[in-house]
Amino acid sequence: MSLLSEFDRYPLTFGPTPIEPLARLSAHLDAGIEIFAKREDCNSGLAFGGNKLRKLEYLVPDALGKNCDTLVTIGGVQSNHTRQVAAVAAKLGMKCRLVQESWVPFNDAVYDRVGNILMSRVMGAKIELVDEGFDVGIRESWERALEDVRRKGGRPYAIPAGASVHPLGGLGYVGFAEEVRAQEAELGFRFDYIVVCTVTGSTHAGMVVGFAADGRERRVIGIDASGTPEQVAAQVLDIACSTAERIGLGRDIGPDDIVLKTDYAYPAYGVPSEETNDAIRLCARLEGMMTDPVYEGKSMQGLIDLAKTGFFPAGSRVLYAHLGGVPAINGYSYLYRNG
Ligand SMILES: *Cc1c(COP(=O)(O)O)cnc(C)c1O
Repeated sequence: MSLLSEFDRYPLTFGPTPIEPLARLSAHLDAGIEIFAKREDCNSGLAFGGNKLRKLEYLVPDALGKNCDTLVTIGGVQSNHTRQVAAVAAKLGMKCRLVQESWVPFNDAVYDRVGNILMSRVMGAKIELVDEGFDVGIRESWERALEDVRRKGGRPYAIPAGASVHPLGGLGYVGFAEEVRAQEAELGFRFDYIVVCTVTGSTHAGMVVGFAADGRERRVIGIDASGTPEQVAAQVLDIACSTAERIGLGRDIGPDDIVLKTDYAYPAYGVPSEETNDAIRLCARLEGMMTDPVYEGKSMQGLIDLAKTGFFPAGSRVLYAHLGGVPAINGYSYLYRNG
């Protein structure tokens, strides 16, 4: 039985996401492992999709139940999350208010005009650009936007950064683990490791809870892309504990159950290193699979490095969760002008 059967879900995605072998990347790395990708980046027709939609499926019934008329959320200038919230608001006929902070020290001339923010504007979201640094916690600018909507007679629904620090934020990725188990039954094998990019934490946390149901919580390998790993690890643990309790997992999650690799976020959140760019190009050229310089390029870099340094025992099957995010690459047009 599903751990989530008690919770309402509003469908925003196509259904189970495909799992595909990355045969050429696996062969190229020559580490005796098989790498697969679960394509969360192809999960929906809503403005290019991504992992936030899987989380939002569990927040939307709450927003509708409370009769809210405006979704209010926050992110960086090239936030994938705010773009997905804007798409959901459009789909539901709600208004959308986005606070976008200058979390990324990156100065491409078109950074605030292309990719995610362009789409959010086209979808009709009201966007406020705010000059504040990176923080995955609750922000004052977001509280002010909520208050402003209320003052103008609106009924705001508050969605924190990444839909993470929300009582229902961890549920979507519990569902991911259940979906993987069903797919494994059809494939006839189980994955030994799941690699996931971690920033606001509820993707990783939901997976830990979902995979704890079959003893694989420590096989979820988070790759930090935030550059603030202590705060992020604590946030993942918090969300995992509260989610486990909410769904009645029947066991506790502890700090040792959160595996977070912290070697790949440099030089800063949203800024790719040379090794990140190498990983993006390698994966693109071997598999035609695009990753972005903020999130998935860093988790791909981590996966490649862990494979090369023997972290995964020979014979391992490794599932890379591709969480989306490619639209942001347009904000880095100068960097990739020659490929
Ligand atoms: C938000 C996001 C992540 C990180 O997920 P969290 O739940 O915030 O940790 C990773 N990759 C992409 C593409 C994202 O948009």
